[in-house]
Amino acid sequence: TSPLSDRINSLSTSQTLAMAAKARELKAQGIDIISLSLGEPDFNTPDFIKEAAIQAIHDNYSSYTPVDGYLDLKEAIARKFKRDNHLDYKPSQIVVSTGAKQSLFNIAQAMINPGDEIIVPAPFWVSYVEIIKIAGGIPVEVPTTIESDFKITASQLEKAITPKTKMIWFSSPCNPSGSVYSKDEFEKLVEVLEKHPSIYVVADEIYEHINFTEKHTSIATLGTMINRTITVNGVSKAFAMTGWRIGYIGAPEEIAKACTKMQGQVTSGANSIAQRATIAAVDADPSVLKDMVAAFKNRRDLVVKLVQEIPGMKINVPEGAFYVFPDVSSFFGKTIQGIKINNADDFSMMLLEKAHVATVTGDAFGNPNCIRFSYATSEEQLIEALKRIKEALE
Ligand code: PLP
Repeated sequence: TSPLSDRINSLSTSQTLAMAAKARELKAQGIDIISLSLGEPDFNTPDFIKEAAIQAIHDNYSSYTPVDGYLDLKEAIARKFKRDNHLDYKPSQIVVSTGAKQSLFNIAQAMINPGDEIIVPAPFWVSYVEIIKIAGGIPVEVPTTIESDFKITASQLEKAITPKTKMIWFSSPCNPSGSVYSKDEFEKLVEVLEKHPSIYVVADEIYEHINFTEKHTSIATLGTMINRTITVNGVSKAFAMTGWRIGYIGAPEEIAKACTKMQGQVTSGANSIAQRATIAAVDADPSVLKDMVAAFKNRRDLVVKLVQEIPGMKINVPEGAFYVFPDVSSFFGKTIQGIKINNADDFSMMLLEKAHVATVTGDAFGNPNCIRFSYATSEEQLIEALKRIKEALE
């Protein structure tokens, strides 16, 4: 008999990490792979943040921290929520965790009962569905299309709601589609949610600053949503700090307390040095990010143009984050480079093996017609990658 639990057997391995591993394997064989599969900025953590971490080491911030984070960090996060998002969260409503991923895990463990339905507009970030399933929840995927810019409409939301609906989880800007909900679009969704006051919202705003459109809207600012929204954020993407592992939430106090209780039995407080550095990050004016955001916007424009030049690929213009999510379904049923393409998995694997470009199948994100690739790499690499893809498809 297997030593493994039903729980672990029902869990999928992260497809993005799996693809990255496969790409590393080919690289180790000496093959020149361009890796567009991972979601992390290719910039360095800004110096002022590194300095704060070094100072924290010298100042002996080496003990356990409060489970929910240092008070002065939570105060800084509260200021950030006010400054950037017009959200009034008290420090007692904030919980700092080991990455936004842990924040999401805490929320699921603290709020979901087995059988609860969680609406997840597709495409969604891969881990949502698995984190929900670990907690015994039932992810209810609501598919969107490239024609609607991969955004859910009010009537789709209304139709997905049942007496068992507990929450809706989404990211804006969205990983993987890059879509950004405008204030108007959120208001239409909030109109529906106001009719169902027991439904909670998990608003993942981790790409907040990587936004090329109108100002970011936090759904918690609309109507009465502040009372039932958990706003998730972190420093991984905006400050190029993926390895530092700091994420945080603003939430109704009862939920913040429950997340702290959960975390207290799992990891305790997040890394002390990274927390001290995060104070510097969230206290900084977002204008320090403008060069990075401008670079991402240039790459977005470049990649969209290059993808549009590939016959058979359909693409929306992403307004944020650093991914494109082209629809490649026109290739299904064809044989390319001797490989029969039945679905996005085959397509993505063919690109890796024949074009030596690592992407991720859209299947992992709840959309079987698309593939995702990240443009968090240099323009030269992007030009070369798209050239290889185009040639492989000719
Ligand atoms: N949410 C979304 C939408 C993401 O894309 C990611 C990272 O890829 C995360 C959360 C997790 O971020 P963190 O590094 O803070 O755990």
